[in-house]
Amino acid sequence: MEVRLAECAGFCFGVRRAVETVYEQVQTGKTIYTYGPIVHNEEVVRDLEEKGVRVIEGREELLRLAEEAAGRGEETPTVIIRAHGVPKDIYDILDKNNLEYVDATCPFVKKIHRIVERESEKGRHVVIAGDPTHPEVEGIRGWCSGPVSIVETPAEAENLVFSPGETVCVVSQTTFNYNKFQDMVEIFQKKGYNDGVVNTICNATEERQRSAKAIAAEADVMIVIGGRHSSNSRKLYDICSRECANTYFIQTLDDLRLELPKAVRLVGITAGASTPNKLIEEVQNYVRINF
Ligand code: SF4
Repeated sequence: MEVRLAECAGFCFGVRRAVETVYEQVQTGKTIYTYGPIVHNEEVVRDLEEKGVRVIEGREELLRLAEEAAGRGEETPTVIIRAHGVPKDIYDILDKNNLEYVDATCPFVKKIHRIVERESEKGRHVVIAGDPTHPEVEGIRGWCSGPVSIVETPAEAENLVFSPGETVCVVSQTTFNYNKFQDMVEIFQKKGYNDGVVNTICNATEERQRSAKAIAAEADVMIVIGGRHSSNSRKLYDICSRECANTYFIQTLDDLRLELPKAVRLVGITAGASTPNKLIEEVQNYVRINF
């Protein structure tokens, strides 16, 4: 039986950079906070928690932290901004309260912030193709100073009404589905908005999805490793299940309860952007040794 790992699996560039930033900051001995969990992976977050890293859950908590830090005087904590990025007003809170921070926003997300900020200032209506509840989308929205709409489906794009004479700037969440984005772009073009579309889908997502699909198409059993709250991992699961009926979604090695029939020739493994290499290796070795 062969065990094959997808070519692009696990941490993407932006997430790796953010997680490494936190581990580096831990070495400074300062009190470290991350604005939101650094990665959608409970194992990593737990490991960091054991090293004293705390998670700020939102604006209110950040304001409370700023107040406490001001009251204490000398010792100011360091806040790390994760790869998803944050709205502009979070930087304002950090700056106004003299809180130290390290910005680990992925450069690809930062680029979207700069685009929407600039186009908003020019008066364009910003349209974000993405999940309105996702922190990355909330962050992008927070850099717009004018009208902004978030559309998740082509039907929503169809129903979007612009004011007469309005110009439009369309961007996408970095993990958005490419085909869905293309469908939406066509809808905007039919409405007469031919320019102002910037495809900001990240290659890392597409490559990971493509290599997962290729293995799943050949595999008898497919294992997708990812965090419960990781949307890109769930997307990988959907893609693989369409290709391979025996697709399993696991968070940790403990979730893996495989009873493989003798006829299995190929077990494929892939992992979401928030899955550390160590875990991928553990799963790979487990399957190799036990079956
Ligand atoms: Fe950056 Fe792409 Fe990873 Fe998102 S998926 S964090 S944009 S490298």
